[in-house]
Amino acid sequence: MIQSRRRFLATSAATVGGVTFLPYMAQAADTFSSDAGDITIHPIEHASFVMETPLGTIHVDPVGEASAYADLPAPELILITHEHGDHYNVDTLTALAGENTRIISNPAVHDMMPPELQEKTAAIGNGENASWRDLGISAIPAHNTTEDRMQFHPPGRDNGYVLDFNGFRVYISGDTEDIPEMRALENIDLAFVCMNLPFTMDATAAASAVLEFQPTYVYPYHYHGRDGGTQDPAEFAGLVGEVSEVKLGNWYG
Ligand code: ZN
Ligand code: ZN
Repeated sequence: MIQSRRRFLATSAATVGGVTFLPYMAQAADTFSSDAGDITIHPIEHASFVMETPLGTIHVDPVGEASAYADLPAPELILITHEHGDHYNVDTLTALAGENTRIISNPAVHDMMPPELQEKTAAIGNGENASWRDLGISAIPAHNTTEDRMQFHPPGRDNGYVLDFNGFRVYISGDTEDIPEMRALENIDLAFVCMNLPFTMDATAAASAVLEFQPTYVYPYHYHGRDGGTQDPAEFAGLVGEVSEVKLGNWYG
C-alpha cells in the first residue's frame, strides 16, 4: 500500500542559473512532483515557509521581516495555525496580504485580528474543513498533552492542517505533541512536524509519531527551543530511518 502512493519523485530544486547550491544553503528549496503538478517548498525560518503550488502560492505562518519573502511570489493563500509570535504577526501579515489574498486561521487568531485582516480571513476550528480554489483544507487538532506544558497550547484552540492537492496530501503540524489525531493520519505524502521544548515535543516523540503515520516525506521544523530545548533534526532522522524520507530544510540560516 505504501508503494502505491509513492507515485511521484522528489528532486532537489536548488539549481539557479546553472549554479547548484547545496541543500542546506540559504534559499534552497525542494520540489515534489505529484499528479497535481509540482509543489516547491521554501523554508523561511523556524515555522514559516512558502509553498509554490499549481493552485497558487501559499504562505504558512509568515512572521518576521517582509523582506524575507521579497524574492518569492506574493501569497494568494496564507495559513495561520495559532496566535504565538513565531506563527502570527500582524505587521508581517499586513505587509504580505494583497487585495485578493485569502487567509485561513483558527478562530482565536481570527478574533484578535484587526478588521482589515479579518475581512480576508475564514476561521476554521479543529475538525472543520474549508476549500480554496481546488484545494481541500482540514483543520487538525494541535495541542500539548504533557501536564506541565498544557498552558502553551491548550486543546481545542490551535490548528494543524491537512492540505489535499488532488490526492497529494500535506500535513502541517502547527505546535503540538504527538496527539492521537496525528498518529491516525493516513496517506500523507509530505509532512511538517514540529519539535522543541518546552513548547511542543522532543525529537523522540516526533519520530515515534512519524513511524506510526508514515508520511512519504517529512520535514522536521520548529526545532529550536528554550533553555536547552532545541531538538536535533539529525537525531530525528536517525530515529525515523527508512520509514519516511527526512528532508532537512534551511530553517535557521
Ligand atoms: Zn505555539
Ligand atoms: Zn511555535
